[in-house]
Amino acid sequence: MTFRSKAFEIAQGRVAPVLTPPTEKVADLYASNTFSDDVMRTLLSPEAYTKISNAIRSGSTIDREVADEVSAAMKSWAISKGATHYTHWFQPLTGTTAEKHDSFFDLTLDGKAVEKFKGSALVQQEPDASSFPSGGLRATFEARGYTGWDPSSPAFLMDNGAGGKTLCIPSVFISYTGEALDYKAPLLRSLVMLDKAATSVCQFFNRDVDKVTPTLGIEQEYFLVDKALYYARPDLLMAGRTVFGHSPARGQQLDDHYFGSISPRVNAFMVDFEFEALKLGIPVRTRHNEVAPGQFECAPTFEEVNLAIDHNALLMDLMQKIGDKHNFQVLFHEKPFAGINGSGKHNNWSLSTDTGINLLAPTTKPKENLRFLTFLLNVVKAVHDHADLLRASISSAGNEHRLGANEAPPSIVSVFLGGELTSMLEELVNKGEITLEKGENFYYKLGITRIPNLQRDNTDRNRTSPFCFTGNKFEYRAVGSAQNSASPMIVLNTIVANQLMEFKREMDERLSAGEEKKVATVEILKRYFKESKRILFEGNGYSEEWIATAKERGLSNISATYDALYAYVTESTIQAFEKMGVLSSRELHARYEIELENYVKKLQIESRVIGDLALNHIVSTVIKYQFKLAQTARALTDLEMLEEAEPIKEIIKDISSHVVVIKRLVHEMTEARKTANNVDVLFERAKLYGSEVKGYFEEIRYHVDKLELLIDDEDWPLAKYREMLFLE
Ligand code: ADP
Ligand code: MG
Repeated sequence: MTFRSKAFEIAQGRVAPVLTPPTEKVADLYASNTFSDDVMRTLLSPEAYTKISNAIRSGSTIDREVADEVSAAMKSWAISKGATHYTHWFQPLTGTTAEKHDSFFDLTLDGKAVEKFKGSALVQQEPDASSFPSGGLRATFEARGYTGWDPSSPAFLMDNGAGGKTLCIPSVFISYTGEALDYKAPLLRSLVMLDKAATSVCQFFNRDVDKVTPTLGIEQEYFLVDKALYYARPDLLMAGRTVFGHSPARGQQLDDHYFGSISPRVNAFMVDFEFEALKLGIPVRTRHNEVAPGQFECAPTFEEVNLAIDHNALLMDLMQKIGDKHNFQVLFHEKPFAGINGSGKHNNWSLSTDTGINLLAPTTKPKENLRFLTFLLNVVKAVHDHADLLRASISSAGNEHRLGANEAPPSIVSVFLGGELTSMLEELVNKGEITLEKGENFYYKLGITRIPNLQRDNTDRNRTSPFCFTGNKFEYRAVGSAQNSASPMIVLNTIVANQLMEFKREMDERLSAGEEKKVATVEILKRYFKESKRILFEGNGYSEEWIATAKERGLSNISATYDALYAYVTESTIQAFEKMGVLSSRELHARYEIELENYVKKLQIESRVIGDLALNHIVSTVIKYQFKLAQTARALTDLEMLEEAEPIKEIIKDISSHVVVIKRLVHEMTEARKTANNVDVLFERAKLYGSEVKGYFEEIRYHVDKLELLIDDEDWPLAKYREMLFLE
């Protein structure tokens, strides 16, 4: 019995576990594992509570006494709920989350056991930074890096399964010299700037607005594979995706998985992780099957951006842990299976004021709609001017397999607004000079007395657009399922903040020249529309025509990750980011380097896995099988059944021809890797990996997949697509 058939037997024998349903109502258990606002109100003195609330709301600093009081309250709360350890929880540029647990337990000088957690330990800690990527920001002799408490994201209790719980404190991670080594630090900076910029623009329309909060709802796609089969696929284990595998006779042609009924085993897993997620204050709401077999989606209700991103990172971690319990491996890779849809992480983004207005929601009132159009067109202009940077922010080795494939947004950044909204904007621009006579209705003249019904566009939204307006928010769909959403959100927040500040500057200039406010607004918006119109696209983003049209329009279509990443260090990026104070030129260069390095490492691993599997699993198995065939052929020949021996000999030859090519290609690929490894300039190395080394992947795969069809099913060593994808 092969390892594979044993694994399949185990997987087939599994049944859905019986879950004990929670006895509390969701509302009662929601956020019960977080150091929430309610908990703080109960445990802190009124003074400390007010100070910390202000710090959360307006970013004011927290003094030592308050920190001491908060840490004491956190400690007693956490211990009362079974925690033994605490950790700063942060998001280094490796793409996963990091924790280093310290025990509350300590010894006094005279040897007594006490439980300790001081304010200073809450505010700042010093993990060894040397093993996290820094892109040259931290010379090895200065390995120090600090994590610092982010009070705007509540601390939470993580259950490590075996009973012990850990108090996790969301934190930023910065170098000794103050440069960001993580996602959260620049994200927080970008959110402050966007609030500032959006609030100042909002005040042209609503004086009473003091704060604008960017909001984010993240739809997370993923695949589930049975653990046993996962272990029967070294490529899934090492690279997160299958490097070989013939497509099953039934793929997703029937589209019968989408929104289909969820199998009991999968459902049990979902119920379980959602329950734990809710306790952590993650507002999960939607679950459904996705288009591909074995693929699913989970979406929480939108939240403030920083919180939504922490929650998504936490959710991914949680899903993996709960998956273990259910003997599932959760695959977050953007393209785990060839020929089957990939996974994304749709980022739904909007802006909301402290007075309860969604700035990207049109209304029936003309004056409000001028505000709506202002924010809408500023976003469009920002995306137009920094399209390449937005493309860079979602570039990775994994997403490279998905983008531009037949079901995913192409690598051309375009914006979808919907037909009616676009034609309304055309009309606005074509109204020519605005001259206002007394008593005339300005809005009537402009034709924005009413925003066309956007609901319709909402229902048949464009699934092929990477960046689309969906009625009251933008949805960035090109984001990869495995990546940290902070990457694209830092970029989006920063370029929109930068753009809104530019709008404000122009408005102020015109107003001080005596221009009427409404006229000034419309004049600027008309220009923005003209300048960024070429990025608007309503048609099928997967079509060949679009590639040609985009080229005519001068839009970039950067397919290779190593090329796309360059946008991180162009003049216009550095200028915008430094002006907004989000990332310095040095920090941007560091990120560029880290991303290139990640890319090289991922491809290096994939290439090694391909070589190893091809030679040590496939070719060796195939040769044994050939021997069996040869014996059969000889036996037939001995019996003088020459005609009957012929087809068997043909198969042997056929197999040999593939084996010869595979051996040659693997050898050449290994040589290409060696050449690339010897190149010092990182970009050149990444390019060699992305073009030369990666160039062999498909070709080797082609021959291995052919062999899968030639070899006896019994003998094939790797779990097959049909076994992994159609498990109930
Ligand atoms: P659909 O499933 O049709 O794409 P949903 O209404 O389910 O649309 O929204 C998808 C995601 O968008 C959810 O996470 C939702 O919370 C989020 N979302 C809705 N409104 C906003 C908003 N104003 N800002 C940010 N995200 C939003
Ligand atoms: Mg959606």
